[in-house]
Amino acid sequence: MSETVHEVLLPSAMRAASSYEAKAYAAASASSPLTPLTIRRRQPGPTDVQLDVLFCGVCHSDLHQVRDEWHGSVPTVYPCVPGHEIVGRVVAVGRDVRGFREGDLAAVGCLVDSCHTCPACLDHEEQFCAGPATFTYNSPDPHLGGVTYGGYSNSLVVDQAFTLKVPNGLDPAGAAPLLCAGITTYSPLRHWNVRAGQKVGVVGLGGLGHMAVKIAHALGARVVVFTTTPGKVEDAIRLGADEAVVSNRATEVAKHAGSFDFILDTVSAVHDLNPYFGLLKRNGTLTMVGAPETPLGVGIMGLIFGRKRFAGSLIGGIRETQEMLEFCADKGITADIELVPVSAVNQAFERLLQSDVKYRFVLDLATIR
Ligand code: NAP
Ligand code: ZN
Repeated sequence: MSETVHEVLLPSAMRAASSYEAKAYAAASASSPLTPLTIRRRQPGPTDVQLDVLFCGVCHSDLHQVRDEWHGSVPTVYPCVPGHEIVGRVVAVGRDVRGFREGDLAAVGCLVDSCHTCPACLDHEEQFCAGPATFTYNSPDPHLGGVTYGGYSNSLVVDQAFTLKVPNGLDPAGAAPLLCAGITTYSPLRHWNVRAGQKVGVVGLGGLGHMAVKIAHALGARVVVFTTTPGKVEDAIRLGADEAVVSNRATEVAKHAGSFDFILDTVSAVHDLNPYFGLLKRNGTLTMVGAPETPLGVGIMGLIFGRKRFAGSLIGGIRETQEMLEFCADKGITADIELVPVSAVNQAFERLLQSDVKYRFVLDLATIR
């Protein structure tokens, strides 16, 4: 793809006055690599915060979306600029902005707007907004037309209600993945009331999985990781797990039968869930946050015997995301990252597909050209 200005659906004079150019990395189609693209961002309005993006994590959802793997539920609009694990420096604020000032570090996750009035929004669960919510990328953009563009870009404008504060003491690059991988694991662990004395399984040790290990450990749980990669066993222990099991070793897996209060499955690909139901205690819950592109088979008998529950969870609301950031600052938790230049994003995607991630790629936006 050559470097072009993406045309949005507004008269050109209005667009020029109300928006400015920013640099981004975008995919032109499901089979294209990400390449540089000049996009437009809206000029900050009265309640907006304008950020120079410093760091953006590479979530497996970015890959699913770029390659249109969720076509049946969330079809991708091209060009697609992904990225929803964003930490930046505030460079301007609108006249009605309270709580953010030029020079502050600030963060943006998966959400940039919602209706503010539906039951989910009133419960501070904007991710489930009936509106629906405006996601950071690939959602209809109410300001400029077209779709929203994410954090694989040097600049971003977000309403203050969807801008997070980065607590002092958190490394900005290591904090970026908290904005999706952190909240996506924190929210279900809290919702299902994981606490000291409980036994928690984490399936898949990638970006989400390694955050789940750190957070569940910090909540006081006994943590067991299930990984397909034998080379990650030692890392799992270092990250805070009490034990790690290679998931195709059936006898090792079977030792944990009937023992888990809660299992969080973070796997990005189709895999067999049914052995994990057998590992739950009576009334135990297996929650899926991994979002493979095709349906997974669930053997109902594995749920009926033991009154077990199979659930899903989607990121977290803004208030809970701020709470998670404070929790991580308090416990000294950030992601283990590999900081790479933006131009390495296509190699990062390939390594995600090989499960070769330790444990989150973070793009250094200072390198964008
Ligand atoms: P990731 O870093 O690529 O990690 C996924 C891990 O899954 C891999 O490292 C690997 O761990 C395991 N895995 C991969 N292929 C597997 C297979 N065929 N069988 C068994 N295990 C396999 O991905 P991520 O960024 O953590 O995201 C994980 C999933 O969560 C993605 O589907 C993403 O879209 C989804 N997600 C959901 C939400 C939500 O709100 N629900 C939010 C963010 C992301 P091992 O090497 O340890 O086996
Ligand atoms: Zn994500």
